[in-house]
Amino acid sequence: MAGADERLAREEADLVARIAAGDIDVPVAELYRRYAGRLYRYALQILGDAGLAEETVQECFVRLWRTAGPFDPRRGTVGAYLIVLARSAAADVRKRPSSRPLVPLEETLVPPQRDSVEQILTGLVVREAVDALSPAHRQVLLLAEAGLPQSQIAARLGLPLGTVKTRTFHALRALRAALAQRASMPPHDPAHPELAHPEAAGWALGTLDGGDAGRFAAHLRSCPDCRAAVAELIPVAGMLKAAAPAGLPPPDLQARTLAAVRQAAAETRPTAQRPGAPGGTGGTRGC
Ligand SMILES: [Zn+2]
Repeated sequence: MAGADERLAREEADLVARIAAGDIDVPVAELYRRYAGRLYRYALQILGDAGLAEETVQECFVRLWRTAGPFDPRRGTVGAYLIVLARSAAADVRKRPSSRPLVPLEETLVPPQRDSVEQILTGLVVREAVDALSPAHRQVLLLAEAGLPQSQIAARLGLPLGTVKTRTFHALRALRAALAQRASMPPHDPAHPELAHPEAAGWALGTLDGGDAGRFAAHLRSCPDCRAAVAELIPVAGMLKAAAPAGLPPPDLQARTLAAVRQAAAETRPTAQRPGAPGGTGGTRGC
């Protein structure tokens, strides 16, 4: 894992070095392919507006182009650096007069911003882990994440309540397994096999209906398996609630972003811009 991470970090630092050397199209497109989704969801989370999130992504890559020279890979990964750029780009996009609603948004109405880049990245990784679950698992977790009690989830999906309970349980466990690979989540403790009752997941998520919640609270006192499962699932449920919002950048944003970077390059150092040389660009892609 560490070796693969290091190789990826080197590869992405090389892409930034190519941008610093004046190459735009291929390295910007490659970093866009890898990070645009994350940057877009992050901007959506702090700005709450798709149009402003798109502007932020464009601005972020323009800033990457401007600062590619001084970028020092020893100080952090390209992914973390892009989040730093996105955070300042989003702050500036929000300040633009054209972005202001007629009644200025009070700071208290702005969704809470997480402080550290590490926390932001975790929220984005959690969203990607949810997106990678099976459609059935993703569906129940998205409804739970939206705060629906299990009886309403059952009604919404046209499923028996019991199916929603077990599906939520397996979905939360699947998310936990995915996060154990991607984020700082300890692996499942094999001392506690899947003996817990499925209500443990709804309990951890806070989506059990009133009667079920009361019964399960009483049951927890006498069931060590459920207590162990709840202890494992509560952090997963917490991470799900802190996940970045779902959302995909529109397909044409890549072309607009590349155009914005090219324009910034043309305005700032017209002589350094190379006419597009489509050949001779292979060799940096991993695997
Ligand atoms: Zn139990």
